[in-house]
Amino acid sequence: MNPEADFNTPAILLRRVEYGDNDLILSVITPDRGKLALMAKAAKRSRRRFGGVLDLFALLELSCRTGRCGRMPLLAEANLCEPFHTIRAEVAKTAYASYWAELVHFWGDEGQPQPALYALLRDVLTALDRNQLPARVLSLLFQLRFMHLAGLGPRLSVCVGCRRAVETLGDVRLGFDPSRGGVVCGCCEAAPPLPISRGALKELAWIADGDLVRAQRMRFSAEALGAGEELMEAFVSFHLGREARSLKFLRHLRESGVLS
Ligand SMILES: [Zn+2]
Repeated sequence: MNPEADFNTPAILLRRVEYGDNDLILSVITPDRGKLALMAKAAKRSRRRFGGVLDLFALLELSCRTGRCGRMPLLAEANLCEPFHTIRAEVAKTAYASYWAELVHFWGDEGQPQPALYALLRDVLTALDRNQLPARVLSLLFQLRFMHLAGLGPRLSVCVGCRRAVETLGDVRLGFDPSRGGVVCGCCEAAPPLPISRGALKELAWIADGDLVRAQRMRFSAEALGAGEELMEAFVSFHLGREARSLKFLRHLRESGVLS
C-alpha cells in the first residue's frame, strides 16, 4: 500500500461521475468509513492513471489522502482485488448489480462504519459473478437483508393489522402493504394490496432469515420469486420515495424477456 496515504481501505465502486475535463468523483462503500465520495484526479483524462481498475462494481483496495478544509478525500492509489468481469459483460447481471449499487449509494451513511452492508454487497456480487445462485434469488436476498440493516425489515410472519400469525389465519386472503411494512390479512383490509400466498411468504421468510450458503441449498418456486420481486421492489420504492432509475431498466429487461 501507499506509505504516504492517510488511510487505506477496501472498497466497492458504486458510481463514477465526471468532474471537469480530467477528473472523476467516485462513490464507494467501505467497511469502516461507510459510503465515501472520493476525487480521482486525472482519472478521466487517462485510463492508465489508476491502472485502469476504476470499473463499476469492482472490489478494490484504495489508498487515499484526507481532503483539506472539508474537501473530499483524494484517491492516491487503487489496486484491484476482484474485477467481477462477468457482471459488466452480461447485461442481466449489470442490471441487477446497478440496482443494488444504487440502493447502497442512496442509503449508505457517510463516515459511519457499515461492515455488514459492505459484506452484503461484496457477497452478492461475488455470488452473481460466479453464478452461485440465480440473480433473482440474489436480488431478493439483497433487498430483504438491506432493508433489515436499514431497520426496515418487512414483517412476513404476522399481520401488521391484527398481529395474528399468518399460519393461524386459515383461508383468509393475504397481501403485502408497502406503506405498513408487512403482510396484511383480508380481515383487516377488505382488498389487501399485492396478494401473496402462504407458501410464497414462507419462502421469502427463509430467504430473509438465511444466508447465501443456506439459500444455495434451497429451491425456490417461480411463484415465490415473482411475488417476492413485486413485493420487495414496491417496498423499496416506497421507502425511497420514488422508483430507482436502475429498477426501471431491470423491469424493462424483464418485460422484454432478457431476464429468465
Ligand atoms: Zn389482520
